[in-house]
Amino acid sequence: MIYKVITKSEFKKFINGLIKENQTFGPRQVDEDINGKPIYQFREVHSFDEMDLDYTVTYSSVKNFFLPFREILSRYTFQGDDWEQSLEYRVNPRVIVGLRPCDINGLAILDKIFIKGAFPSPYYLARRNNTFLIGMDHEPLEDCFCESLNHHVVRHGFNLFCSDLGDRYYLSIDSSKAFNFLKNVETTEPTKKDNEKFIARKNFIERSFKTRVEVTGLPSFLDIEFKSPIWKKWGDKCLNCGTCAMVCPTCYCYGIEESIDVSLKTSRKERFQYSCNIVDFAEVAGGHNFRPLREDRLKYRFYHHYRGFAENAEEPICVGCNRCGRACLAGINPRDVINDLRLESKDELPAT
Ligand code: SF4
Ligand code: SF4
Repeated sequence: MIYKVITKSEFKKFINGLIKENQTFGPRQVDEDINGKPIYQFREVHSFDEMDLDYTVTYSSVKNFFLPFREILSRYTFQGDDWEQSLEYRVNPRVIVGLRPCDINGLAILDKIFIKGAFPSPYYLARRNNTFLIGMDHEPLEDCFCESLNHHVVRHGFNLFCSDLGDRYYLSIDSSKAFNFLKNVETTEPTKKDNEKFIARKNFIERSFKTRVEVTGLPSFLDIEFKSPIWKKWGDKCLNCGTCAMVCPTCYCYGIEESIDVSLKTSRKERFQYSCNIVDFAEVAGGHNFRPLREDRLKYRFYHHYRGFAENAEEPICVGCNRCGRACLAGINPRDVINDLRLESKDELPAT
């Protein structure tokens, strides 16, 4: 990692230079919630001033830039007894500005699945390789709990990361591309004072978390609580809408659909995001549903996030952004469910 410092006016020049050459996305207010609070999303921008870099967090994660809600995997044309397949996964270079640490860490987790996993995805890889990521630190919201999962800091998975020092940014440079792009603007080497301010900023952010979730030993704890009545309590509230998975930076369950046109001359295969909370998620040919109960579907989403993935990849899949909790109309969020399970097991312990 290389560190530099840049003034905010020079940073603006840098971003406008990138916007000129690349399709660029940044945080923008798109609406207000029922309490009048702004709702932000990553949207295409044509100048630096269109972005709101003082935003809180985006409602959805950046996942869909890499795993679109629906994408065509392949097209087929049929002629006589012959057929041809065509694949398309070229992506033009693009830039996303203003990602939060949880967004970047979410992508680093998806990389484990779609790049380093047993079945790498060329579609994901093409998008990932052609997207220049600029991250930004921020003060946590009341309900962010990424610090509990150590995802409030970023170590890799980005090109450039900016820590706010007031009138300047402290830049962490993690790619040669970023290093070379920065040659077009004025940056300086961090002074001792800059380094101190950078560390103070990190410490301040770390101290600002108000929500903590106890995740120590969570995989084994979940094993023990497999039959807990808590799953029914929360499962009964679930509306099976799948919103939690759609906004989550790391939920990646999907379905595949094949369709053929009426002339029987062409067809296509599409991949679409799905959610394990939706009622037919575990339904198979013949109509049998392996998880007909809401409580089981909810439970398995938690098991995938905090147990199964943690065992295979040595970390939970959740980055602690609480997007699922904010979006859930039934008021279900990881903090309350995990705390409930912990409380219940405490009650079960014999008195000493
Ligand atoms: S947990 Fe909430 S957001 Fe997720 S499916 Fe159930 S009701 Fe919908
Ligand atoms: S807090 Fe919710 S939305 Fe965020 S990573 Fe964890 S499960 Fe996904």
